[in-house]
Amino acid sequence: MRIVVLAGGIGGARFLVGVRAYAQQTGAEVTAIVNVGDDVSMHGLRVCPDLDSVMYTLGGGADPERGWGREGETWAVKQELTAYGAEPTWFGLGDKDVATHLVRSTMLTAGYPLSAVTEALCTRWQPGVRLLPASDDRLETHAVVDLDGEQRAIHFQEWWVRHRGDVPTHRFVFVGAESAKPAAGVLDALAAADVVLLAPSNPVVSIAPILAVPDLREAVAGGPAPVVGVSPIIGGAPVRGMADRCLAVVDVPCTAAGVGGLYGARAGGGVLDGWLVDSTDADATVPGVTVRAVPLWMTDEEATAAMVRAALELA
Ligand code: GDP
Ligand code: CA
Repeated sequence: MRIVVLAGGIGGARFLVGVRAYAQQTGAEVTAIVNVGDDVSMHGLRVCPDLDSVMYTLGGGADPERGWGREGETWAVKQELTAYGAEPTWFGLGDKDVATHLVRSTMLTAGYPLSAVTEALCTRWQPGVRLLPASDDRLETHAVVDLDGEQRAIHFQEWWVRHRGDVPTHRFVFVGAESAKPAAGVLDALAAADVVLLAPSNPVVSIAPILAVPDLREAVAGGPAPVVGVSPIIGGAPVRGMADRCLAVVDVPCTAAGVGGLYGARAGGGVLDGWLVDSTDADATVPGVTVRAVPLWMTDEEATAAMVRAALELA
């Protein structure tokens, strides 16, 4: 059985821990297609927050409390940059994390595509699933906001980390998505998939930028494998993070049904065949999509693997 998962950072990583546990029990093969819209260049380094969250989490090197970056991190580089007054000062680059970005940036500068760089980084971390960036091309999420009395587009990281999403926001734009091609390996993985799962990741800024790559979206929406999504919204609230702010920007209710409707049924031009919601949202309906309710709290590996089993049964 071949499972392909579309994933963002933290929610995607935690879900993939359960997918990997399921795969270890059953011999399934797992490919994760990870959002690159958050990627950004900082102090000359290429940073890929979602790929790193997934790689560190599955590789056992993530900070469990902070939810991003490395365990046992130190901040000497950040302090030195601050001493120089080097902008931006609002982005946290840990010392251990910097080593990852140095290796990545060196390889990218030498001409390797991000997919090859990710594979190289994963030889150290052994995540147990194949990690692919959605695209090797430049694709960046920007937020169109009102700032200092004018309308401006700022990088998603600036919107999220610096402004905490707390600035009047008109829309998100996935810069470069229209001409971006799926990364090496992505279309083959989707063509060979027995099932495609959408992790309970942020629908607006983690899953949408992946599906904004035209050939990738077509391979999911028009592909042979059933597509089942897992709701990141439980009882009208995101479990953690600011998905509510992002959903408000795109005018979608912060409910399991709202997000299911945003993805939409495959028959109606969307991507879903099935939609898994939490037990508290058992009354949710999405036109043209089979909805099933099970507990969706990713409290530990076993609880998450149970969610994966439910998603596969639904598929
Ligand atoms: P990010 O890129 O680091 O922001 O992470 P993702 O986009 O992959 O995931 C963020 C989403 O994960 C948030 O919208 C949360 O609601 C969701 N999430 C986090 N923990 C859980 C959980 O235990 N259960 C469910 N259903 N969703 C969760
Ligand atoms: Ca992210």
